Amino acid sequence: MRRLRPLMAGLGCLLLAACGGDGTRVELDTGEIGPDAAGFNPASLSTATANGRHAARIDAIASDDDALAMRGFIGRDDNLDIRDPEGAVIWRMADYDFLSGDPAASVHPGLWRQARLNNQYGLFEVVPGIYQVRGYDLANMSVIEGEAGRIIIDPLTSVETAQAALALVNRELGDRPVSAVILTHSHIDHFGGVGAVAGPDTPIIAPAGFLEASVSENVMAGIVMGRRAGYMYGTQLPRSPRGHVGSGLGKHPALGTHTIAQPTHVIDATGQTLEIDGVRMEFQYAPDTEAPAELTVFFPDLQAWCGAELVSRTLHNLYTLRGAQVRDALAWSGAIDDALRLFGPRTEVIFNSHHWPVWGQPEAADYLVAQRDVYKFIHDQTLRLAAQGMGPDEIAEAISLPESLAEIFAVQGYYGTLKHNARAVYQRYFGWYDAVPAHLDPLPRTVAARRYVEAMGGVEIVVRMALDAHETGDDRWAAELAQHAVFAAPDDAAARDVLARAYEQLGYAAESAPWRDVYLTGAHELRNGVAALDATAAGSAILNEIPLDMFFAAMATRLDSERADGRDRSFNFIFADVGETHVVSLSNGVMHHRQDQAEEAADATVTLTRAFWMRLLQQEAGLMDMIGSEEFAVQGDRLALLGFFAMLEQPQADFPIVTP
Ligand SMILES: [Zn+2]
Repeated sequence: MRRLRPLMAGLGCLLLAACGGDGTRVELDTGEIGPDAAGFNPASLSTATANGRHAARIDAIASDDDALAMRGFIGRDDNLDIRDPEGAVIWRMADYDFLSGDPAASVHPGLWRQARLNNQYGLFEVVPGIYQVRGYDLANMSVIEGEAGRIIIDPLTSVETAQAALALVNRELGDRPVSAVILTHSHIDHFGGVGAVAGPDTPIIAPAGFLEASVSENVMAGIVMGRRAGYMYGTQLPRSPRGHVGSGLGKHPALGTHTIAQPTHVIDATGQTLEIDGVRMEFQYAPDTEAPAELTVFFPDLQAWCGAELVSRTLHNLYTLRGAQVRDALAWSGAIDDALRLFGPRTEVIFNSHHWPVWGQPEAADYLVAQRDVYKFIHDQTLRLAAQGMGPDEIAEAISLPESLAEIFAVQGYYGTLKHNARAVYQRYFGWYDAVPAHLDPLPRTVAARRYVEAMGGVEIVVRMALDAHETGDDRWAAELAQHAVFAAPDDAAARDVLARAYEQLGYAAESAPWRDVYLTGAHELRNGVAALDATAAGSAILNEIPLDMFFAAMATRLDSERADGRDRSFNFIFADVGETHVVSLSNGVMHHRQDQAEEAADATVTLTRAFWMRLLQQEAGLMDMIGSEEFAVQGDRLALLGFFAMLEQPQADFPIVTP
């Protein structure tokens, strides 16, 4: 299995949001006695009891989502199974067939319900003239019938899933050309398949900042985000009642080939209108909400609003567990309020980029009010509680939805959670420091673990205490204790086992799919170690759109400053084919770069092509390829240049998480 090239690995993973694993899935074991084939234990009595209690509450507030998720169903590919040319699974709905059975004790009943609803896949009529393909990927592909063809909104994550979705549309509704594509925002599940639906002359409508945001979020910190995304989406987990059941937002990010397109129509102001293929559209520009670049679109002749991912049928993330800068709860809530005022009175149906639509004007307005209120509630109440002197841990523990919102399914925490979103608000205003002086300079976690364990009487005693806590259903405390034991004695099998058991039950009890996947992946890695990264390609079409500047900025974060200190140098990189010159310089163990004229006094001048540079960064070309290459020439001090390359550290894409 080929490893992802280190510099690109994190980016690739993030683009895929699902690196790792060899594509094999452990078969479902429905037996409740003993561990299943993947080593996952049954729900404990206390987990089963807690989930049972939630089930009663969920039954009591049951809504008609089952009917709505199937409303307007037209057709689908039975046993939808999309593979790459080598036969590796890109998308396979049959993996989730187990969700049609009775809810398992090992899954939060709200999450089970959400996962079952997200299993409803196929082509659906929203209203005459508007259709959606749902469940062919993490997100929805929406279709608006124009005079001569179809406008596609959000062509999914990969070329392969988008092709399958478009084929379904053409088969069920008749062949028609694509007259325009709308990319609602800068997350790959909404644009990666654009290559399958757009030709070279297809109008592409996107929000201002789309291209930059879509390629940039993951370049700098991609390696770490990629590793963490594997936890958040449960990439390694079997699809089963004791494994991954879905992401809350949909099933999971699709694999496959990713593409991107240059927008031809940029939306940078609310109120902007367009008419394409006889379809009138009013846009809302909503940056810095769910994504850095996002738009929504209202179709006045159809009285329909596409809310993109501003609104969905779950509480979304103010902070995403893969790691990213926290989102602005006020801007997000404010944008929903704007939509409510601008489009609400004229809206008979809301259809979004995830989940099933909302039909009826009063229902649509109520839905927007709840979506708007939940983000502002989290924002305002977090600050209220902080002003009582609470830190992020206490706020997360204290905050709960008011009864009026607690009864609305579409704001429950199947993706984001109230707890981690409250922490995100705290972080946005106050940062990592909770003002407790002891937390200003804490001992590193491994040192603290050793000393806690020593103070408590040794690993065996701590493991015993953790086991006792686990057996009484106190799994948060069990995990806290066992985490110290594992970090103090990573080879202690009993410590790892009890930590895995605690994580397992925390996963089974979690309402949020990402929480479930994080805990269960932790248990899985404690038992099986870290799996080798998948060999899936990193989406070169997207890499080609990344400005060279960003690669140099990312390169600076690879510099081993100790090796660089005292070796001040400068180098010119002349990209002849794209007409850019970048000057790299070292001082005080720090790398700087700027796009500029070549420096006379540079130690060396490299003339190369962007394509060669890409291959070098991805280690598809090595130092030997530089010699005699027509795409690469060096003038000046070659040894200094080689010395510089040697100062760049290879990131560790599979770093440990649940062990030191
Ligand atoms: Zn999305």
